[in-house]
Amino acid sequence: MTKILVIEDEESVRENILDLLEAEDFDAIGAANGRLGIDLALSESPDLILCDLMIPEINGFAVLAVLREKFTTSSVPFIFLTARSAKVDVRQGMELGADDYLTKPFTRAELLTAISARLKRQAAIIKNPPPHAEVKAHPKEMRVIENALRRTIQEGKFREFQMYYQPIVDIKSGEMIAVESLIRWWSHKLGLVSPAELIPLAESTGLIIPLSDWILETVCKQTRTWLDNGLDVLPSCVNISASQFIQPNFVEKVASLLSTYNLAPHYLELEFTETTMMQDINKTIDILQQLKSLGVKITMDDFGTGSSSLIYLKKIPLDIIKIDQYFIYNLSQDCQKLAITKALIQIGQNLNLKVVAKGVETVSELKILRDLRCYAMQGYLFSQPLSSFDFEQMLASKQGLHI
Ligand code: C2E
Ligand code: MG
Repeated sequence: MTKILVIEDEESVRENILDLLEAEDFDAIGAANGRLGIDLALSESPDLILCDLMIPEINGFAVLAVLREKFTTSSVPFIFLTARSAKVDVRQGMELGADDYLTKPFTRAELLTAISARLKRQAAIIKNPPPHAEVKAHPKEMRVIENALRRTIQEGKFREFQMYYQPIVDIKSGEMIAVESLIRWWSHKLGLVSPAELIPLAESTGLIIPLSDWILETVCKQTRTWLDNGLDVLPSCVNISASQFIQPNFVEKVASLLSTYNLAPHYLELEFTETTMMQDINKTIDILQQLKSLGVKITMDDFGTGSSSLIYLKKIPLDIIKIDQYFIYNLSQDCQKLAITKALIQIGQNLNLKVVAKGVETVSELKILRDLRCYAMQGYLFSQPLSSFDFEQMLASKQGLHI
C-alpha cells in the first residue's frame, strides 16, 4: 500500500487531506509540525510527502533540507503545499529539491493528479536508476551540477568554495574544544550547492581528489593564520572522503601539509565515516596507525549508522567517536533513541574514546547528553557552521555554552 505523509499544522486541512487519501486507498499518516514530520518521514519511510510551507517549529524548507540529506529520504517525492504561490518560495523549494507544489486551496483532482504524477515518475526512476545512484538529486539536475563542478575544478576556480567552521563544545565546562570544517560551494552558475550533493558527486566522478587536497590545505592554512593572529587556536576536524583515504600518498600529504604550515599535529583531527573505515578494515588500521604516528587524532564519524562490529571497533586506532544526529534528534521524546544513544556513549567510554554528539539543537537534548556523561556536543544549540571570519570572532571572544 502506498504510504503518504502529510505535514500540515491546520488540523481541519490535514484531516481533510488524510480522509481524501484514505478514501483513495492510500496509507495516510499526518504530522502537525515540522519536527514530527521529519521524525515520521525517517521512521515510517513514506512513498511520498505532502508538506505545508508555513508550519510551526521547523518550516517546510527546513524539513525538506533535512530529509534530502538523509539517505533513506533523499529521493522521496516531496510536494509543497503553499498558501501563496510567491515565485521566490516556489523557486527556493525547487532549488532544495522539491518535486512539485500545490497552492491552497486546491481541488481533490489537483491533489490526486500531482500525487499520481510524482509516484509514476518515482517508479520510473527506481526502474532505471541513474548511473550514480547514490547521488541525491534527479538525474538531469545532477548532470548540470556535475558539469558545473567539473568546470569549476578544472578551471581552478576554487574561490567558489569556502570552508565553514562549526565549534565543538565540552558539555561539562561549556568551553569550545575543537572545530569541524565543512565545505560550502557558492557556484556562480547554480547558487549554493549542499555538501550532501557535492561530496557524493565529487566522489563518484573522481573530482573529490583535487577538491579534498584543496580542503585539507585550506584548513591547514587557516589554522596557521589563526595562530599567527595570536588566537587560542582549537584543533580542526577535517572530513576525509573514502577515495581520499585510500590514496597511496595520503599519509605523506598530511605530513607534508603539517610541515609546510609549521603546525603541531594536535591541531589536526581527521574524520572518517564508519562506512569508509569498514571498506577494507586491515588497510584502514594500517593507514590510521600511520596517521596516529604523525600525532594527528582520528574520529569515527556517523558512529552507529554503519556496520562496524564491536570487535573491529576495539582494533581500530581511534580517539573520538561522533554519534550521528539521527539519534540525537528528538532524543527527549523517543525512548528507543535514548536507549541507543546511552549504549553508544557507554561503548565509547568503555573503549576510552571521547564521545561527541552531533546535531544537538535543544536544551533538553543537551541535558540528557549531560546526564549520560557524553563528552562533547556540536549543533545549532551552540552555533551553526560559521565563515572563517565569524568563527574567528567567536574564538577571540572565547564564547562558551552556559546552560
Ligand atoms: P557531517 O560530517 O556529519 O557534518 C555535520 C553536518 O550536520 C553538517 O552539514 C552540519 O552543518 C550539520 N549540522 C550541524 N549541526 C546541526 C544541527 O544542530 N542540526 C542539524 N539538522 N544539522 C546540523 P553539512 O555542512 O551540510 O555537511 C553535510 C555532510 O557533507 C557532512 O556531514 C560531511 O559528511 C559532508 N562534508 C561536509 N564538508 C565536507 C568536507 O569538507 N569534506 C568531506 N569529505 N565531506 C564533507
Ligand atoms: Mg563530520
